[in-house]
Amino acid sequence: MSKPIVAIVGRPNVGKSTLFNRIVGQRIAITANEAGTTRDRIFAPVEWEDREFVIVDTGGLESRPEDNLGEEVRRQVGEAIADADAIIFLTDVSAGITLADSEVADALRRSQKPVILAANKVDNPTRELAMAEFYQFGIGDPLPVSAHHNQGIGVLLDEVVALLPYADDKGEQGGMRLAIVGRPNTGKSSLFNALVGEERVVVSEIPGTTRDSIDTRLEREGEGIVLVDTAG
Ligand code: GDP
Ligand code: MG
Repeated sequence: MSKPIVAIVGRPNVGKSTLFNRIVGQRIAITANEAGTTRDRIFAPVEWEDREFVIVDTGGLESRPEDNLGEEVRRQVGEAIADADAIIFLTDVSAGITLADSEVADALRRSQKPVILAANKVDNPTRELAMAEFYQFGIGDPLPVSAHHNQGIGVLLDEVVALLPYADDKGEQGGMRLAIVGRPNTGKSSLFNALVGEERVVVSEIPGTTRDSIDTRLEREGEGIVLVDTAG
């Protein structure tokens, strides 16, 4: 049973790595002063209020912030969103909304994943006033945080865990997903049937998960595998 994944997503320089390190309680991700040295994505386990999840920092390769997202950053943001169960959309009150923020917001709305909007660098109460403009994303109320000064992090984590699926929910349909792909007539369905038949322990057919594929859940030595037979 895998832990839910929470990704910190945002344009370069909003403080994602600082927040990641703050949440993890260790300096794992490398922050701006050493730009360009971070790996693509960094993961760390987190426990908060009896809930466990994996936090992901993205955008290691971003060195200089530009108006819009660079191609590489855009790819990283897309992958992080796709893999996440919930997303912290981090923005920066000291800079306000930039074109790159709007690009990230658009990608998040399209994804329809649960998103928490957080406004970072709210180092003092007067900066909370500047958060008002973030309402225009239409992604809900911005939560004030200061990753650098360790403010608002507990409230943020409370909101995050409230959004997470319970491991049990995830486990029911979870496990490894194995898809059989190939051009028509190569024997995909025969292979599928052979695998299913051989196991003889089909637990359920999961209806309607995708339009043109059949998901079948197998159980083998206690591990769930969802086998996906693609049509066409
Ligand atoms: P990333 O590119 O989104 O990962 O951003 P970083 O975590 O590398 O931070 C970018 C810059 O913002 C660094 O200089 C941080 O020290 C600074 N920073 C991060 N959080 C805060 C904060 O809460 N307040 C202020 N004033 N600066 C911050
Ligand atoms: Mg970073």
